[in-house]
Formats: sequence, C-alpha cells, structure tokens
Amino acid sequence: MTTETAGTVRLAELGWDARWEALIAAEEDAGQVPARILREEKQLYLVCAAEGELLASVSGRFMNDALVPAEFPKVGDWVTATPRWNEGRGTIHRVLPRRNLLSRKEPWARTAEQVIATNLDYLFIMAGLDRDFNVRRLERYMVAAFESGIEAVIILNKADLCDRMSERKLEVEAAIPNTPVHTVSATDGLGVEELGPYLGPGRTVAFIGSSGVGKSTLINRLLGRERQVVRELREGVGKGRHTTTSRELISLAGGALVVDNPGMRELQVWLDADDLFPVFGDVEDVMRRCRFRNCTHTEEPGCAVKAKLESGELNRGRYEAYLKLKDETRRLAVKRAAKEHQIQKALFQKRLRKEKKKARADWRQL
Ligand code: GDP
Ligand code: ZN
Repeated sequence: MTTETAGTVRLAELGWDARWEALIAAEEDAGQVPARILREEKQLYLVCAAEGELLASVSGRFMNDALVPAEFPKVGDWVTATPRWNEGRGTIHRVLPRRNLLSRKEPWARTAEQVIATNLDYLFIMAGLDRDFNVRRLERYMVAAFESGIEAVIILNKADLCDRMSERKLEVEAAIPNTPVHTVSATDGLGVEELGPYLGPGRTVAFIGSSGVGKSTLINRLLGRERQVVRELREGVGKGRHTTTSRELISLAGGALVVDNPGMRELQVWLDADDLFPVFGDVEDVMRRCRFRNCTHTEEPGCAVKAKLESGELNRGRYEAYLKLKDETRRLAVKRAAKEHQIQKALFQKRLRKEKKKARADWRQL
C-alpha cells in the first residue's frame, strides 16, 4: 500500500492512524488504497486517498451484498478503493468498521437509521446563552451523545449577550457532570481559542444544537477562510441543477475536519430508555431508594423522590425533564418494536431472494 510515500501525511491529516492501518492488511496486494469519504451524493462519493481525490462508487459486489442503507459509505467513513487515476474515478470495495456513528433515526426503527456521519472524535453540543438558554435541552443532546458513544463537549455560545455567564456555566456543569463546558462568542471570537485542543490535525468533529444557536457562525470562524465551494459531483449529468454545493467534511484552519451536511442541521434527538442513565443516573439512584419498588412517587409512604424534591436535593425541573424523556422513550419503544418486526421481515425476504438466485446460478454451473 501507499502509506509509506509522501501521501502518508495527507492520510494522517484526514485522521488515518495505526488502528486504521491495522484493518487493511488483507487488501494490500489487491491494489486497493484507503480513502476517506468527504461527500456523498446518491451513491456517488467524493473520496480522498493519499494521492488525491476521486469520484467513486461502490463495486457491484458491494451493491449486491448490502442489505440496509446504513451499510453504504457515509461521510467520515474510511473505505478501501481501487483508484483509476487517469479518469479521476475509483471503485469502493469495503467500509472499514466504524468507530462510532451519528445517525438520525426514524424514532420507531433502529434498522432504518440514517447515518449522518461516522468516525467522529468530538461532538460539540451547542446552546445559546441568550433568552432561549435551556439546560434541559442540553441534557437531551447529551443523551444523544452517550447513545452515539462520541465524546461530548458543551459550548455555550453568545457569551456577549449574557451577563450571568459564569452562573450559567455552573448550572450546566452541575446538571451534566464530567463533560467540559466552554463559553464562547462566535461573533466576537471570545473564548474560541479554548476549543483549540479539540481541533488538532486529523480530528473529526460535528456540531449539534438547536437552530439559531450559532453553529454556522462558529464553524465559519473556525474555517479561517472563505468556505470552499466545489462543483456538483454529477456535473453535466444533472437535470438543470445549477446550485453549487460544498463538501460535507471540511478542513478547519487548525487542521481538524468538521462535518457539515444537511443531515447535521436537521438532527433530532432520539432516545433509548437505557441511554437516560448516564445523564440522569442521580435521579434513578434516588428512585431506587423508595420503599416500594413500584413506587409512583406520588402518594406512597417512604418515597425518596418526594422527600428529595421537598428538601431541594433533587431539582424539580431536572426530575420533570427525566420523566418527560422516560415517557417519550417508552412510547417510541412500542412503535419501534412494531416497525422493527416489519423491517426484519423485509430483510429476511431480501436475503431469501438472494439465496435462491445464488442456488439457481450454482445449479446452472453443475
Ligand atoms: P445555527 O442555526 O446554529 O447555524 O446559527 P447561526 O450561526 O446561523 O446563528 C444564528 C444567529 O445568531 C445569527 O444571526 C448569528 O449572527 C447570531 N450569532 C451567532 N453567534 C453569536 C454570538 O456569539 N453572539 C451573538 N450576539 N450572536 C450570535
Ligand atoms: Zn417514590
């Protein structure tokens, strides 16, 4: 493979490391090279390998073997590809096992998840310190971070509009322990240098948070240059689409890569009941101390929740946020079970059709 050439530097800049290297030994002799997906558009991919960028599509075999959309390459994926440098094209053979992924789920079907980006180092969870400031919303995004397994960093933006900045920060730190919190102003640049340590060369990050909290403003500041505009991938093939689109994995001035695609902007928080524990473990701990195991925390004697709420040791807002999320996960779980069943059935039939086709082909060869 080409990783000993000058290209090595480029791959490292894209996040390639020894752990990835260890995964590709088998492909070395087949003329395949590692490449990272920078952009995805209807099964055509802009990938970057050590020697440069290629437009690639998946091999016929890949297409045939894939059962669900999530198996196809996504922005951030490392793949192995056969380059055809003279054409600037390539064929993708394999998606290397993902370290993590950020997905938008149909709330009722885990298997129908839509992967937005993969292999992220940090998830920046952003909130605005203006009138919309809401710790509860941050908690929700934290649950999403835990669910994805990506390390979270909280950014409180619009510090310039807030005169109770340190108070807010303490409030967030109390509700969400063990997670770094930074206060910045994307417009003034105040505090933005605190994010430097997360944004070293080859680090891949994504920003989540409600619309209007300043994600685009901060990303633009971190870009340190005009946003690079690239041509439509299917240039010339299009049906009168004149819009230019930018790539979805963009390099920041410090060398990190940021995911910026429509999926990121529309990301909704979606939850599993088990995901609540890392964020609301304290609430669940109190609940376990009630005298009755099936305590509803309303009228029962010996209710630890009621006692702690009254003494103020358990914050009422936090408890109510927990109940609301708990209820939501319960309703979603029921919906999902039904949908999952339907999907599994469809997958089984798809597999069966493939098996039959293969059996027929084998038969013909005899
Ligand atoms: P996004 O929806 O999260 O991408 O938010 P935008 O980056 O589009 O920002 C929404 C609005 O907030 C814009 O009008 C920004 O100019 C403004 N904004 C973003 N960051 C700051 C900040 O640090 N301070 C102030 N005062 N306004 C900001
Ligand atoms: Zn109770």
